[in-house]
Amino acid sequence: MAQDDRTLKFYGQEAIAYTSRCLKPNLTYIEAFLSALPVGSVILELGCGAGQDSEFMISRGFDVRPTDGTFEIARAAEKRLGIPVANLLFADMNEEGAYDGIWAHACLLHVPRADLPGVLAKIRTALKDGGLFYASFKAGETEGRDRFDRYYNYPSERSLREWYMAAGWAEVEISAEIGGGYDQMPTDWLHVTATK
Ligand code: SAM
Repeated sequence: MAQDDRTLKFYGQEAIAYTSRCLKPNLTYIEAFLSALPVGSVILELGCGAGQDSEFMISRGFDVRPTDGTFEIARAAEKRLGIPVANLLFADMNEEGAYDGIWAHACLLHVPRADLPGVLAKIRTALKDGGLFYASFKAGETEGRDRFDRYYNYPSERSLREWYMAAGWAEVEISAEIGGGYDQMPTDWLHVTATK
């Protein structure tokens, strides 16, 4: 199924508060991602939330297709960006060779652990050969829920490497960083960049 209904319910109910925060892209990773792609490249953003990352990529001259699986969040991002934001669940991705890049910041961490390799394979299929895929995860060893009832898959670097490999990815780079989240707790993050 690749989605958690309680998590989507949280985002639906909190859409206004969640998308009204003053969020900035993680410049280290978004700049590195964009610098590896020619200006004008077609980029799919998954789980775009408020839309700040799509906004940044558009401002740099990229052809961005923002999407989010929560209807209310997609509408809020659409209002901010002034372009269509598709209400797309990860599980419903069915394109082949359509994108130069796929950006998934802090969203695939909501995919139930057993379903992640299948979603990673769909993403690989949706990319052109040589395309770039970025995703970030809260690091850990297990699955669980936060105080907002959101489901999280907290993977180790080793688990991530296994799941990416199972989904057909050969070139995978992972780096670790301490950051934060909506719960305002210090969090260990894993940033994964993979090339098709
Ligand atoms: N990428 C944005 C950012 O970094 O600010 C938003 C991150 S927020 C933690 C996770 C986003 O993933 C939410 O906007 C939520 O609606 C979306 N999401 C959660 N489960 C999803 C699913 N199964 N399919 C598509 N989007 C999903």
